[in-house]
Amino acid sequence: MARFHIRRPGTHEAVTLGTENGTWQPDPGAGDVTGTEWWAIPGLVDAHSHLANEVLESGPGDPVGTRSRAFAYLERGVFCVIDKGWSDTTVMTLTEVPPTERPDFEAAGEIIAVPGGYFPGFREIDPAHLAEEVKAVAAEAKGWVKLVGDWPRKGRGPLPNFDLDQLRTGVEAAHEVGARVAIHTMAPDVPSMAVKAGVDSIEHGMFLTSDDVAVLGERGGAWVPTVVRIEETIAMLGAESSGGKLLTRGLQNVGGLLTDAIAAGVVVLAGTDFATDLGDVASEGLRLGQFGMSAEEILMTLCDRPRRYLGMSDGFVSGEPADAVFFDADPVLSPGVLTHPVAVMRHGRMLA
Ligand SMILES: [Zn+2]
Repeated sequence: MARFHIRRPGTHEAVTLGTENGTWQPDPGAGDVTGTEWWAIPGLVDAHSHLANEVLESGPGDPVGTRSRAFAYLERGVFCVIDKGWSDTTVMTLTEVPPTERPDFEAAGEIIAVPGGYFPGFREIDPAHLAEEVKAVAAEAKGWVKLVGDWPRKGRGPLPNFDLDQLRTGVEAAHEVGARVAIHTMAPDVPSMAVKAGVDSIEHGMFLTSDDVAVLGERGGAWVPTVVRIEETIAMLGAESSGGKLLTRGLQNVGGLLTDAIAAGVVVLAGTDFATDLGDVASEGLRLGQFGMSAEEILMTLCDRPRRYLGMSDGFVSGEPADAVFFDADPVLSPGVLTHPVAVMRHGRMLA
């Protein structure tokens, strides 16, 4: 049996745990101990990822790449991913991959939009049929449905893809079949509509208002601001373009709203959305931290809060999979270490 001193962030006491058959054991017995100077967490969570594809703006997704990206996530210490949709490639591929070679995952499957309301080639529907479409997509997905709430139209700026009643119907349909709804929104108006309609998770959502976060927080709804993604999009569009100016305004709004949202009970989560190095959700967490979060809150955002939201345990529980991500300093004192684990153990086995 391998033995580890598990020192959790922010504490000075270590517990000694052993692993057997990939699970934690309560009574590790005698023997050499590994990792005595390491701090451990039960794994990072990326709440907005797209494993089916390598880049934004293309193709249906490839199974071989999906598999290797999933393993790369593990190597960065990401043990759970919410895939916010692309095609159904993620679910079909990862269902066949053993959990020792991929993170745990939930996934939205095929992204739902309207003609002209997203990158071309996704599920372009008649908004009047949103409820049936949501149910059809949810049947092939894993726990989520992803809607595109707004999208820029040439010369007209961003426009909503659905109205409030349509969104309500879509959310009800998803909840009927046990799926949560995530919505992409980068413009004003749609965040408020989505919150009213009962959408579970607001993706980007730079134009949420303080009234919206109060309502969202009340029901424990989620918000994944993807700040690094927004900054990259601003750079891509040009800061002086109309889109760049709008997003810059949105980013300022995020900065002013973030700590209030957490205080109101909103489940603020970190998501990479193609914008960081593969699986480097820690960098998004650190970037969110620059909006006034303490180091403890950064760790909460990357680990504890999403685990609770997804119904996972606190980790390090006897009989549960022996998962640990190790750092050579306490991430509460030095959050920068979160981007560079010194070792990663997945289901009792150290990854090379
Ligand atoms: Zn995305």
